Amino acid sequence: MQKLFFLFLLILLQPLLSYAAGTDLKPSELKTIIIDPGHGGSDKGGEGSDGILEKDVALQISQSLKNKIIGRIKLNAVMTRDKDYDVPLEKRVTIANTSNGDLFISIHTGSAYSDEISGIWIYYMDYEAGGDEFGEIDTDDIEDEKKDVDMILKDMARSSYVNEGTRLSELFQKNLTDIIPDQKLILKPAPISILKDVNMPSVLIEVGNITNSEDVKRMMDKEYINKIADAILNSIKDYSRVNGRESLK
Ligand SMILES: [Zn+2]
Repeated sequence: MQKLFFLFLLILLQPLLSYAAGTDLKPSELKTIIIDPGHGGSDKGGEGSDGILEKDVALQISQSLKNKIIGRIKLNAVMTRDKDYDVPLEKRVTIANTSNGDLFISIHTGSAYSDEISGIWIYYMDYEAGGDEFGEIDTDDIEDEKKDVDMILKDMARSSYVNEGTRLSELFQKNLTDIIPDQKLILKPAPISILKDVNMPSVLIEVGNITNSEDVKRMMDKEYINKIADAILNSIKDYSRVNGRESLK
């Protein structure tokens, strides 16, 4: 009975708790986008047959995206690295969380073991996809009255980031399909640790498979890099449109 009452109270207080947890961010009020170019420095990431490196492709797209965000939609863009150097995962998370990012976009290439695999992969955070590693977020825990309010607020914030990250990933899918209709596209939930640790909605994109020769050809083409950055930019603009509000120009 006590449990039920507690749950009822939680439901009543949800809007207030959401506000307190800072999860009521209106997408139209985006200020800062965090761009995370994967790998860097001694960590080359995937490597293609003609010497093309994942870390370089990730940085090129990130820089193009940053210029478009600042130049075209006048938001702040913070990169977790802007040159070719090592940045540990924890540092990337710290940069994102201390820069008050509103969205986190991690950019990689795929490096599948099979060179026959091609396409763009878009990953959004899902605690339930793939095992126990992220088991600490258990929705049943919400029913535990002993759990302190702080933990509940954190869980609520996280589930809001997951929902919003999923929405953003669907917009990636839509805009990439519009701009690069001939490239295969896969949208996938995954419990990726960097997506879990940032305090904001997050998406990780692999812009092509670096061990596939067709994808490598694309990734070496400046126009392709530009199109990927455009599609991500359009996704951010679409994300900012909510309930008929005017989107970013
Ligand atoms: Zn990678």
